[in-house]
Amino acid sequence: MTPVRLPTQLFLNGAYRESSSGRRCSLINPATEEPFVEVATADAADVNTAVESAQRAWETGWRDLTPGKRTEILFNVARMLREQMEEIAQLETLHIGKPISDARDEAALGARVFEYYAGAITQLCGETIPVARGGFDFTLRQPMGVVAAIVPWNFPFPIACWKAAPALASGNCVVLKPASLSPLTALKLGELAHAAGLPAGVLQVLAGSGAAIGDALVAHQQIRKISFTGSTAIGQRIMELAARDLKRVSLELGGKSPNIVFADADWARAAETSPMSVFGNTGQDCCARSRVFVERGIYDPFIERFVAATKKLRVGDPAKPETQLGPLVSSGQREVVEAFLADARKRGSQFACGGRRPHARGYYLEPAVLLDVGKDDRCWREEIFGPVVCVAPFEDETQMLRDVNASPYGLSGSLWTNDLRKALRVARRVESGVLSINSHSSVHTEAPFGGFKHSGLGRDLGTAAMEGYTELKNVYVAE
Ligand code: NAP
Repeated sequence: MTPVRLPTQLFLNGAYRESSSGRRCSLINPATEEPFVEVATADAADVNTAVESAQRAWETGWRDLTPGKRTEILFNVARMLREQMEEIAQLETLHIGKPISDARDEAALGARVFEYYAGAITQLCGETIPVARGGFDFTLRQPMGVVAAIVPWNFPFPIACWKAAPALASGNCVVLKPASLSPLTALKLGELAHAAGLPAGVLQVLAGSGAAIGDALVAHQQIRKISFTGSTAIGQRIMELAARDLKRVSLELGGKSPNIVFADADWARAAETSPMSVFGNTGQDCCARSRVFVERGIYDPFIERFVAATKKLRVGDPAKPETQLGPLVSSGQREVVEAFLADARKRGSQFACGGRRPHARGYYLEPAVLLDVGKDDRCWREEIFGPVVCVAPFEDETQMLRDVNASPYGLSGSLWTNDLRKALRVARRVESGVLSINSHSSVHTEAPFGGFKHSGLGRDLGTAAMEGYTELKNVYVAE
């Protein structure tokens, strides 16, 4: 790979700057276990600077810009992202160990998200309402002000774009906080967006730890909305803190998504494609189909094909284009996953394959297929966020749906059948915000994405996301 320039400072008011404390934090390349750069880390004083300047940028220009001008700027941002896609992809691979071919796709997805919202600006419409007393009544979708966007480390660049693009398109300013493990592509986004014409202060990027600046950001009086993607536990904490000022929140949280395969489906295709639906991104995916329900009649041949396809996955150096699974993001994350595997061993689950460290260096783990996992076991119930799947047979549709919906999560899932009536019946009953039939896709830029139950609140993507960054105002004009 060609060497890339690494961002090492916060991106505030249109320029890279040191943090006020001068503190820095080392990033470790998960593929080599070597530190490779030190990045400035923000504290509460930097949060203040970022939010207050964003508020000024909002009041003195951004909120009053014409939709046409905002459209032009966001298309420029998209163009700039497309021009710098390779650099963005390489940064993503360096800091989180994402396979470069996936990182390239996700860099393109980020640009596509900006294009979509640049075009969607003129779709943000109000209504005219024929009220009983006559006169003229209409609604306006107004921007909120400064939005805090807090994103995780598993899809750092695309999720930063999912939040920044619709928030900016609907006329807000954004303070973006990437995860401590993955600040590089968010900082790059700030730099490129500014170079593309976004005025200074409209998109601020604060690298820094959630423990150090999370509360200060969420509780800041000038923050009007928090758009968060991450764990359910931190989402709950944010919601509690936001409730004090009745701040708006949207939360995209964890998942334990089902993959349901009926005997009448093209089950061989399901078996061959399903491993990547759980092991993609080394299982560090909120939509990972980590519970596979297979109808009893096809269970044995399904397992055989599923395990064979899993063993063929190429685990290794994320810089190589042929790699499908890179390392886990950190040694801590690998230890979390290994603790789940140890629990499965203790409880007598069968390992059909995987679960070992394949390389001496790098936080790698072979993808593990677990059978005979008890429905009360941790591996079945909890989000593992690593390359582990539990596969179980089912006989009765009603009982299977009870087991599917017993999870407190409800984010995504797949359903495989060639019976249309069954597909629609079961799709209605699965408690999740996203579901795909005879496929494993979860995310479409143009369609709403988000969860039921403990998987979240509100929606990213589609026009729903833009509406979520506005307040609805009703205006009445007397005759
Ligand atoms: P996390 O620990 O909740 O962190 C997410 C973000 O929140 C990071 O930027 C983190 O900063 C920050 N944070 C931590 N403590 C905070 C606090 N007290 N106040 C405000 N922000 C705080 O989650 P993660 O380990 O990064 O990501 C994994 C989780 O995200 C999984 O549960 C996964 O399912 C979920 N996820 C969901 C979606 C979705 O769309 N539904 C997508 C991706 C991931 P630091 O990194 O500095 O701690």
